[in-house]
Amino acid sequence: MPEALPAHYDVLVIGGGPAGSTCARVLTAGGARVAVIDRAEFPRVKLCGGWLSPGFWDVVQLAPSAYPRGLWEWHTCHIHYRGKTHAIACHGWFIRRFELDDFLLRTSGAELHLGMPVKHITRDPDGLWSVGGLRARYLDIVARLDEKPLEDAARAELRAAAERLNPDTWRTADEVALALEQYETVFESLRAVVGRHPRRRV
Ligand SMILES: Cc1cc2nc3c(=O)[nH]c(=O)nc-3n(C[C@H](O)[C@H](O)[C@H](O)COP(=O)(O)OP(=O)(O)OC[C@H]3O[C@@H](n4cnc5c(N)ncnc54)[C@H](O)[C@@H]3O)c2cc1C
Repeated sequence: MPEALPAHYDVLVIGGGPAGSTCARVLTAGGARVAVIDRAEFPRVKLCGGWLSPGFWDVVQLAPSAYPRGLWEWHTCHIHYRGKTHAIACHGWFIRRFELDDFLLRTSGAELHLGMPVKHITRDPDGLWSVGGLRARYLDIVARLDEKPLEDAARAELRAAAERLNPDTWRTADEVALALEQYETVFESLRAVVGRHPRRRV
């Protein structure tokens, strides 16, 4: 019998935008070995208004003053409507999106595989996920994939699991109880990997 190939990583994350890099950041902070795969080379252009809300800094565990690229803070929103101007106190920042995504990805702690479009995802007989020769125990897809990279059976299994967690499908008290139980299982297994992080903002 051929010897089983080793897993290269604990988790493969497909998509290196803010969702993928944040996922990778949290997992690596918890000690996981993570690879992020993206079809683009970074920095890459992303259509965006460049607006950040205050909660962003909590999520990435960073103080605005520690962000080394372009950052513009604002405190008032001016609205012109039917000949009147309203000044509303609120708070946020503007960034250049190609800079932010590049920064988030490169400081995530993950190993980066850029310029690598994902076309096929397979599950090996030993249960590990395999993408372009990289193997890992867990897989997180945070990119909108054009292709259909999963085999039908694996795809159906994932779809059924996702459907069970969709509140729109909960009709009976039993379905609600089962789904909440599954949520708890998902969160518990995540907490076991990443631990708990205190919220902080400066
Ligand atoms: C016009 C516009 C303005 C916006 N303005 C704002 C704003 O001002 N503020 C704000 O917070 N949000 C804004 N958004 C929303 C914001 O851009 C998205 O919510 C955000 O990009 C989602 O991040 P993400 O990581 O999920 O996806 P993305 O940033 O899109 O990242 C997905 C990544 O997956 C990669 N990928 C895709 N397919 C593959 C593949 N087959 N193989 C490998 N990699 C692949 C892509 O290259 C990409 O890097 C705006 C969106 C639009 C369209």
